Amino acid sequence: MSELRWNPVLEEWVVTATHRQERTYHPPADFCPLCPTRLGAHPTEVPAEDYEIVVFENKFPSFRRMPHKPSVEGDDLYQVRPSKGICEVVLYSSKHNGSLATSDVVDIARLVDVWTDRYEELGSLDYVDYVLIFENKGEAIGVTLEHPHGQIYAFPFIPPRPARELESAARHWDSKARCLFCDIIEREAADGRRIVAQNDGFLAAVPFFARYPYEVHILPRRHVASLLDFSDDERWGLAEILKVVLQKYDNLFGFPLPYIMVMHQAPTDGREYPYYHYHIEFYPPNRTATKLKYLAGCESGAGTFINDTLPEETAATLRATAPCKLDPACGERGAGAEDRGEGRGKGEGDAKGERAADGEAGGEDVGEGRDGGEAHVGERSAKVKEARRDMHAQ
Ligand SMILES: [Zn+2]
Ligand SMILES: [Zn+2]
Ligand SMILES: [Zn+2]
Repeated sequence: MSELRWNPVLEEWVVTATHRQERTYHPPADFCPLCPTRLGAHPTEVPAEDYEIVVFENKFPSFRRMPHKPSVEGDDLYQVRPSKGICEVVLYSSKHNGSLATSDVVDIARLVDVWTDRYEELGSLDYVDYVLIFENKGEAIGVTLEHPHGQIYAFPFIPPRPARELESAARHWDSKARCLFCDIIEREAADGRRIVAQNDGFLAAVPFFARYPYEVHILPRRHVASLLDFSDDERWGLAEILKVVLQKYDNLFGFPLPYIMVMHQAPTDGREYPYYHYHIEFYPPNRTATKLKYLAGCESGAGTFINDTLPEETAATLRATAPCKLDPACGERGAGAEDRGEGRGKGEGDAKGERAADGEAGGEDVGEGRDGGEAHVGERSAKVKEARRDMHAQ
């Protein structure tokens, strides 16, 4: 059962999804439903022996393409709607023990391409008003499957957090004739105290108004509303800065840091959002290596966050945490922008090596190699998706 119930007090939708109670809960690694299906072993969600990135529809979705009839009738006060939408799972890698932080930049760049593709395809559906790309990582966040994966929710409405951002951005645009986020980027770049990492295209900073001690936002320097507006260089730059931030997170306390990652971008309801600015937000729950921040009375009851740290100080800590630059230590590229070509070439070389090990040839030319990889991924995940559809049809 799943439906949308309107809260007339807070003026927001709540999704009921009772079937989610039966979700697979911390299966042993041998029975991971997101690993490739190995010969002679139990079948998993992915009927293939290996894969790079796979996207499929969540088995326990909060939204469905063909939603059930709501369990109760709605009226004026208590509005009810079918929960029509789509929930997808994105498997980052076939390696059970991997993570985004340990992925090569070239693999993260491939994921950025997949995100772009999903945003475009899901967003083009007439009943999808908002595409939320996110990742919940770690047991502390309540993740039930360890295998590295993210999720995509295609909402039939614009959810309240992005809606609030859109409203404030629109007001700023109207009153100042400027983008709110561009102003924030300018301020952070000039100030410098809250910057965690940066490259040509992106700035990663602990926001001035951080709710969580190690909250980090990644913003493109150029005014772009969604992934669809990114150039090739920007897609690569995003992968690069994600890798650096995630490595810093894992090095912060010496263990893979749990986090929630969400991507905020223009809604897909057919309207124009010239005043909005794409960004990614990370909320790690850790205050220290051993203490978590809980959303208690003040946060849950009043909506006001109490941050036990100063963003200027946590940003300085993250800035000093390896890798400190983009980055010989990552093995991906040198420290300066002038090394860019060389760094990219190296990443490509690694990727080719991997593909060659898979028994597939990589292109000689750097550009060709990269394109080849993308096409291959798209093709493969399409194949896997087809196979899954067949499986469901039976
Ligand atoms: Zn697995
Ligand atoms: Zn902007
Ligand atoms: Zn945001």
